[in-house]
Amino acid sequence: MDFNDSPDEAAFRARARAFLEANARRKSPGARPGDSSGADLDLAAAKAWQLKKAGAGFAGLVWPKAYGGQELGPIFHIIYAAEEAEYDVPRGFFEIGLGMCIPTLLAFATEEQKARFAGPALRGEEIWCQLFSEPAAGSDVAGLRMKAEKTGDVWHLTGQKIWTSGAHYSDYGIVLARSNVDVAKHLGLTMFFVDMKSPGIEVRPIKQMSGGSNFNEVFFDSVAIPDTQRLGAPGQGWSVALVTLMNERLAIGGSTGPDYMEIMELARGLGVLGDHAFRQKLADWAVRFEGLKLTRFRTMTALSKGEVPGPESAIGKIIAARQLQEIASEALDLAGEYGLISAGATGSAAPGTTPDTTIFHHAFFWAPGLRIAGGTDEVLRNIIAERVLGLPADLRADKDIAFRDIAFRDLPTGA
Ligand SMILES: Cc1cc2nc3c(=O)[nH]c(=O)nc-3n(C[C@H](O)[C@H](O)[C@H](O)COP(=O)(O)OP(=O)(O)OC[C@H]3O[C@@H](n4cnc5c(N)ncnc54)[C@H](O)[C@@H]3O)c2cc1C
Repeated sequence: MDFNDSPDEAAFRARARAFLEANARRKSPGARPGDSSGADLDLAAAKAWQLKKAGAGFAGLVWPKAYGGQELGPIFHIIYAAEEAEYDVPRGFFEIGLGMCIPTLLAFATEEQKARFAGPALRGEEIWCQLFSEPAAGSDVAGLRMKAEKTGDVWHLTGQKIWTSGAHYSDYGIVLARSNVDVAKHLGLTMFFVDMKSPGIEVRPIKQMSGGSNFNEVFFDSVAIPDTQRLGAPGQGWSVALVTLMNERLAIGGSTGPDYMEIMELARGLGVLGDHAFRQKLADWAVRFEGLKLTRFRTMTALSKGEVPGPESAIGKIIAARQLQEIASEALDLAGEYGLISAGATGSAAPGTTPDTTIFHHAFFWAPGLRIAGGTDEVLRNIIAERVLGLPADLRADKDIAFRDIAFRDLPTGA
């Protein structure tokens, strides 16, 4: 591992810092939202920031220059994200589009389509969402049932998606659907991109326990999609989806939310830092935090050398998401009755009189989602077991049988 920036990386970091220093406000301690729920984020402000960022050459860092990118290695994306995380800028609207949807278009769309869609997404003028998960297909996304039928040059999509982040403010989406039920589940999928304002699409926001509504149910009722908006060949949707999901790792990126330093400060303020049971937990979190940092350095070293990080990067999310949940829960316990009050929600923080638990509140509501999004703990453990440790593979009873023969009693006939 090499912990130091190369000369190019150091120069880029300095340029990024100068841009951020000149255009954004540095975060004050305790004011970190640590959340991408999007509930209280201002879309107009986020679009303005994205436009500024794109103008300064800090958006689409890994994209080809031909589509407005900077054609830099992924390490520069990580460096910029780490620097930007120190500043109070609106985020949470563009990651899925820029990190997952447009890279999928860049790999599979026509030249004309790439030229049409990359620029507006980069400048924050158009927002994209990812329509993969369904009520019966999350971890097992290849088991999805949205029906895609072709008549002439037009496909009609019917079915339901769920957990679609940002669908309610998105202009376009990439959608995975089943075009063939007579082959094994992975082989009967086709990917499209769709205008979210198309007739037949209904978006219903889901109310979250955090109070926000960032994800949605999305219903498709015979939504017409021209064949020209197909990404990849019919039946090749799984390979296309893997390109999207590989990009997801980079898009989701590093840790979000308070760490052991912040809970230590809270405990100090509350006068409980001397508690032995708490100190033991604190020591565990500090050790894991350092372990995570070194694991991240390993990934960064691989990226810096132009290598692709291996499945071991799954370790980072398992540990970080669980640790965030533990820290948030402990902080709200420590704060006692004040743990019930979200200063961020009421706007009534009273420094000096009540402990400010805002960042822990955000983390408390956000961490369970983090343990699910981009691969649940169990699914990531399976990846580590099979691909890092070489243990026997998970049982996959439906792998080699036609989708229509999987025991779904309610599969529509002729689907
Ligand atoms: C914050 C957030 C944002 C999201 N945004 C999007 C989005 O924009 N677009 C989109 O398409 N989806 C999105 N999702 C959905 C997400 O991809 C799914 O929630 C995830 O894949 C898990 O699927 P599921 O919820 O159906 O749970 P299931 O897959 O039904 O899992 C239920 C439980 O079973 C366990 N399990 C499943 N399979 C196995 C196995 N083989 N071995 C052991 N245990 C197993 C899981 O770990 C889990 O505990 C989002 C989710 C979250 C939390």
